[in-house]
Amino acid sequence: MLSVSNLEVVYDDVVLVLRGVSLSVPSGEIVALLGANGAGKTTLLRAVTGLLVPHRGKITKGTVHLGEEDITSADPAEVVRKGIAQVMEGRRIFAEITVDENLRAGAYTRRSRTEINESYARVLDLFPVLARRRRSVAGYLSGGEQQMLAIGRALMAQPRLLLLDEPSLGLAPKLVEQVRDIVVQINQQGTSVLLVEQNAVMALEIAHRGYVLETGKVVKDGPAAELLADEDIREFYLGSA
Ligand code: ATP
Repeated sequence: MLSVSNLEVVYDDVVLVLRGVSLSVPSGEIVALLGANGAGKTTLLRAVTGLLVPHRGKITKGTVHLGEEDITSADPAEVVRKGIAQVMEGRRIFAEITVDENLRAGAYTRRSRTEINESYARVLDLFPVLARRRRSVAGYLSGGEQQMLAIGRALMAQPRLLLLDEPSLGLAPKLVEQVRDIVVQINQQGTSVLLVEQNAVMALEIAHRGYVLETGKVVKDGPAAELLADEDIREFYLGSA
């Protein structure tokens, strides 16, 4: 489904942040992208979704394909229309408007009322907490609820591929579990997922495959179960040998 090939990205024309990264997300799978702070994970997501420009970044080499289609340097709205939605780090919901309005904003690239209403019903089904609070102003939701809302909003674009940037960041363990279960459910309903996580255990437990990024290069990749058992990974990313 998604294939990133030999990608190089620079910021400000000088800082080389991705140095020939290749990665693929097969249709129907969850792929975990791991790595320390500053390894380039967010940059990779930006390169896929066309969001490098506002950060003064650009692709200097390599390609991004969605299926057969070359989407290298496509603009953000086009990427969404082609079926990729992103949940950015830090739950950037619209705090001043209601849950309901946030969700509907997620469908901005779609036209069919009926289909939008179907997605809306599906999202509320997936997130009962959002159904209960749909008339609340989003800024009053708890951190966990805001993360659910950010995910729900992305689903309103009806993506074939969902990119999640650290969805468990700052959440209490119980909520991390909830996020994990939701990601599994979304995947089971047919959406492929690229999951960026500091929480390597959580990510590898639910992923089919994983990649480890270190200073802009893939240093390891393989089936998630293999990475979970890998000594180096346990030491560096899971905090135990
Ligand atoms: P984190 O988990 O901290 O977000 P990350 O793996 O997602 O880390 P990136 O955010 O992609 O890493 O950052 C990779 C490198 O690129 C870092 O060294 C960062 O300082 C640098 N960087 C990110 N954005 C910019 C920018 N707009 N201009 C210059 N350098 C940047």
